Amino acid sequence: MKETTLNGKVFEEIISKEQIEQIVHELSQKINHDYQGKQPIIIAVLDGAFIFAADLIRNFDFDHQFRFVKLSSYKGMKSSGEITHLLDLDINIADRNILIVEDIVDTGVTLHHYQRKLSAQAPKNIEICSLLMKPNSLQHKDLAVKYCGQDIADEFVIGYGLDWDYQGRHLPAIYQLRKD
Ligand code: 5GP
Repeated sequence: MKETTLNGKVFEEIISKEQIEQIVHELSQKINHDYQGKQPIIIAVLDGAFIFAADLIRNFDFDHQFRFVKLSSYKGMKSSGEITHLLDLDINIADRNILIVEDIVDTGVTLHHYQRKLSAQAPKNIEICSLLMKPNSLQHKDLAVKYCGQDIADEFVIGYGLDWDYQGRHLPAIYQLRKD
């Protein structure tokens, strides 16, 4: 088992670099199939999704526009339940197809809130693509994640863009906090 240590906490690899590459490849194939001619706006959620989104869109073969937004709900290793908009969208989304790209859906509170906010601007359609999902902690069961890379256990993970206290984003694989 591959391990890494951050601030004295041990994390174990659960998804390898090669597995991530395969997941990204499969997701982008599905998205390429579904978005031909639809000219969507791809909205990647900072900070965690920056590496995933960068890898994903380099496989896209359809016309699209790309924006970042920054939403925050996490404090340390727990979701706070309060959503802060740190960087908002500066593009008209009325009657446009929207694809939100997220690193991980945990409780679903962040995207549930954000989807409602976007819906108020009358887009044609909103879909979600998330690399990871924790189905056991999902509070908003109606949150539809059309493109999901992999379901994981309800444990804190880092790597491939996901941080703990701003560390660990550079790791090429996904690591889960080891229970001691
Ligand atoms: P939710 O609102 O779905 O509970 O949380 C979504 C956000 O919380 C994600 O975009 C991500 O930034 C953060 N998050 C959720 N689970 C984890 C995790 O296991 N590790 C890290 N680093 N961030 C997480």
